Amino acid sequence: MNRTEIVEWLRCEDESRLESLWKEADEIREKHVGNAVHLRGLLEISNICSRECRYCGIHAGNEKLERYRMSKDEIMACVREAIDYRYGTVVLQAGEDYGITREWMSGLIREIKSETELAVTLSLGERGDEDLVTWKEAGADRYLLRFETSNRELYDSIHPPLASETSDRLALLKRLREIGYEIGSGVMIGIPGQTYEDLANDIQTFKDLNLDMIGVGPYIAHAGTPLGRNDKKLQAPAGEQVPNTEAMTYKGIALARIACPDANIPSTSALATLNTATGRELGLARGANIVMPNLTPKKYRAMYEIYPAKACIDETAADCRACMHRRIISIGRGVGSGRGDSPNKTKPDQSA
Ligand code: SAH
Repeated sequence: MNRTEIVEWLRCEDESRLESLWKEADEIREKHVGNAVHLRGLLEISNICSRECRYCGIHAGNEKLERYRMSKDEIMACVREAIDYRYGTVVLQAGEDYGITREWMSGLIREIKSETELAVTLSLGERGDEDLVTWKEAGADRYLLRFETSNRELYDSIHPPLASETSDRLALLKRLREIGYEIGSGVMIGIPGQTYEDLANDIQTFKDLNLDMIGVGPYIAHAGTPLGRNDKKLQAPAGEQVPNTEAMTYKGIALARIACPDANIPSTSALATLNTATGRELGLARGANIVMPNLTPKKYRAMYEIYPAKACIDETAADCRACMHRRIISIGRGVGSGRGDSPNKTKPDQSA
């Protein structure tokens, strides 16, 4: 599908035509990654952040937020829960927290790897090369880093660099792949200032990067952020702004699946936040094959408020597991076993 066709789909509002898009994405999903839905236990290990991302509720300047960093023992207790729940992967996510040192993190990864067979995914922001190499050597398998938008100007206006360094997430993703990680990325849908052309470029960029994992979710305004307060009055020209809607998110998922048939694609919590009743299921029916049940202890969940009214905030890890299983079974799919590695791993690298 070329860029013009992608833009046409993004603009399409005809329900019956869209049915054919959902169907195509679902068929490609089934053919390439099967019917199993893999579960990744998400553990939000710290909400401390040194960045000032203008969209994100845990940005450094949000003084209203109580901050936490989980201890190694707390994390290991959750990791053991992941085993009990038969998850194949644990995702360790945090703000860009330099209190999470290279040594502490590699010790944690080694402990998880020596005690369990879990795949370990890291999502710790833009860390230095030595950190990333050391963590890979310690046994980490995958790294998630969304590039948020491929429009450089928009990116710069919502994602300021740290000190005087430039922030180049696309270059970092290529480096992560070189180091040997499976790489995951993605974008927010409907960022103020994001045009249809931008989103079509994002989808082509997924393909160019040959991503192993692609996470797309709606941008959700947070009143404790500059973007949420619309300080800069970012807005694309009339008729060009991508809406941050549920429908647009399904289009993002379906088009990502068509562009990258082999990728692992989650039905995200941000989507479930827009439609608590059936968002997860519809994401899975329109191209997604992954869900990420939350493993974060209840007492910390509300503090990891990257956007407001996050789905599943009042639930325990056990609730999340039961709920995800029920939803997967209800749409006639199966819960995956094992690590659910990227099919790319067993194929030659086709990235540019
Ligand atoms: N510090 C890590 C993890 C950030 S949270 C990093 O920067 O990679 C993970 C993702 O949440 C972000 O990459 C972003 O795409 C998403 N996110 C942040 N704020 C959001 C908002 N207001 N609405 C929707 N998604 C948001």
